[in-house]
Amino acid sequence: MAYDDQNIFARILREELPAIKVYEDEQVLAFMDIMPQADGHTLVIPKSPAVTLLDLDPQVAAYTIQVVQKVAKAMEKALGLDGIVLMQLSGAAAGQTVPHVHFHLIPTSVHQLGKHAAQMGDQEKIMQLAEKIKAAL
Ligand code: AMP
Repeated sequence: MAYDDQNIFARILREELPAIKVYEDEQVLAFMDIMPQADGHTLVIPKSPAVTLLDLDPQVAAYTIQVVQKVAKAMEKALGLDGIVLMQLSGAAAGQTVPHVHFHLIPTSVHQLGKHAAQMGDQEKIMQLAEKIKAAL
């Protein structure tokens, strides 16, 4: 699928839009989801332009998963989690709303997932959670 470089995450990567970042390196960015499905909902994205996991270069995918694990461990430590949902939606038919590949880390049970991309979270609370995760990284 053709990549639209005006999508929200592309604009966040170019710093045209703000994000509450928790981790960044040359290849990957992790930031807080603005409409969390649970407190601490974090997104991890490769910087390279790919719409879905299926479009992503396998080596970039492998590195991104390493960062997903690193951020998940920090979330576990910082937020005292017993479990975490890793979610990846590839394609609008799967419910993907932002056409830049990303991994959701959601501190909840699959049986208690909040509604997807439905309601803006409390920005102050999200910032406080981000600070805790950053401190654990
Ligand atoms: P998906 O539907 O899998 O593409 O997920 C996109 C996610 O991005 C949703 O969970 C949204 O809440 C989240 N989101 C949308 N816009 C922003 C934004 N500006 N900053 C952070 N998260 C966002």
